[in-house]
Amino acid sequence: MDCAKCGEPMRLTEKDTSSGRDIREYKCTNCGYEDWEVRGPALWQILHDDKEESEAAKATANAPGAQAHLPEGRQDSAKSLWSRFLAWLDDLHKAK
Ligand SMILES: [Zn+2]
Repeated sequence: MDCAKCGEPMRLTEKDTSSGRDIREYKCTNCGYEDWEVRGPALWQILHDDKEESEAAKATANAPGAQAHLPEGRQDSAKSLWSRFLAWLDDLHKAK
């Protein structure tokens, strides 16, 4: 980055990515003029977002509440089907 006042190349004085953006501050060593530029989202912010998205997708798939929209009776019938199956196994053992 060149100085806007004298055209000399400016020195990078600070790089701040704490806000999630790559903000770079420059100072001209020739005339002391200071300037800054924003280089879009910081790399860690991009990685962070990716991680959050994939974790959010996982959480949605695995969340107990994900099946909450199913009718109440569905779990009960699954349970009774299972108990009927166990009872059937029990009968098989008894039959032997
Ligand atoms: Zn300058």
